[in-house]
Amino acid sequence: PRFWGYITSSAAPIGALGDFLAATVNPNVGGWPLSPMATEIERQTVKWIAELIGYPSDCGGLLVSGGNMANFVGFLAARKARAGWDIRAHGTAGDSPLRVYASEETHTWSQKAADLFGLGTDSIRWIPTDGRLRLDTGKLLAQIKKDRQAGARPLLVVGTAGSVSSGAIDPLPEIASICRDHELWFHVDGAYGGVAAVLPEASADLRGLRLADSVAVDPHKWLYAPIEAGCTLVRNPAHLLDAFSYRPPYYHLKYESADPETNYFEQGPQNTRGFRALKVWLGLKQVGRQGYVTMIRDDIRLAGDMHRAVAAHPEFEMFHQELSISTFRYVPRRLSATRGEPETEAWLNRLNAELLGAIHASGELYLTNAVIDGRFVLRACIVNFRTSRADVEAVPSIVARLGAVVDERLGRES
Ligand SMILES: *Cc1c(COP(=O)(O)O)cnc(C)c1O
Repeated sequence: PRFWGYITSSAAPIGALGDFLAATVNPNVGGWPLSPMATEIERQTVKWIAELIGYPSDCGGLLVSGGNMANFVGFLAARKARAGWDIRAHGTAGDSPLRVYASEETHTWSQKAADLFGLGTDSIRWIPTDGRLRLDTGKLLAQIKKDRQAGARPLLVVGTAGSVSSGAIDPLPEIASICRDHELWFHVDGAYGGVAAVLPEASADLRGLRLADSVAVDPHKWLYAPIEAGCTLVRNPAHLLDAFSYRPPYYHLKYESADPETNYFEQGPQNTRGFRALKVWLGLKQVGRQGYVTMIRDDIRLAGDMHRAVAAHPEFEMFHQELSISTFRYVPRRLSATRGEPETEAWLNRLNAELLGAIHASGELYLTNAVIDGRFVLRACIVNFRTSRADVEAVPSIVARLGAVVDERLGRES
């Protein structure tokens, strides 16, 4: 109940049954003839996820291992659709340089993608963020124009629906209209926060993910599926086939018919594929839309309760609270007056980094960290259906008690 590190959720028990059954039957969900039932269950799972978050349910999509892979699939669909030449055949060399736009808060999958898929990490334009750590659309627009003038080819913009550090949600509707006006692919990384669009009270910014050309979500985060389960949704299903399909003669399949069979090997990077859809499908069947609304809403409410409880304690400085993430740092009373001075800031960074280790060693709760404007802060992310109000209200006294011990130890050592 007190595990709030990274974005690693408690796994739904029914998902364990799903993985057990999947391993028992062991279907290969690469080709329809090998796994007709599993393929249809995966198709239904993708459709249900789209319906859950308000994405067009006639989209294409498939399940992958996690958020990184789900984002890679969107990236590859964009690369093929918007390069302007046959990039699958000719690669990236020798043509006008491709450009990718993402905020400075974007997850590192974007670097891995630019690197692995031939663009190189220098192709990424890191767009600064505003005071709430959201992509600054004015700066985005200026950079796109500048790159066009310099002869580069803007390819895609990544919007984040729930950043890893602070849960920030980029202004997705505005980014969508910039992409429309300038003919860029719009990809949303909703690995963490995407499914929060199920909430009737979700912000217009978050609901803007429905405007994207592709969206990555991570069922092994807020849908509580056991690891591994990611999912890519692509507005136009043909873009997946365009990006991934090869049809070798040794697969004698019925590709062309009025109702063609779904063969996932030609819609994503994998060939042999496991039946990871079953655990996600069972979770959706078990609790349904209302169950996820309740659980996700609870986590967000608990993060707010934690934020207020910590803020009420005199020895903490608060940073952000978005979705189910709260960030704060321990500031011993004796240092509160000199906060902001370089010497105190250096001490607080060291103190909070050491404190994180002490929290882990205590076994009492589990937090991780973020770095915000050069400040090392503690971070709780609640994707845990076992967390209760009492758990989050215990945070300030535990962390302040451990903080005082660490502060004293560092004082003696220095
Ligand atoms: C978790 C996360 C990822 C990476 O997903 P994995 O499942 O760890 O591969 C990417 N982007 C965001 C915003 C995430 O929260």
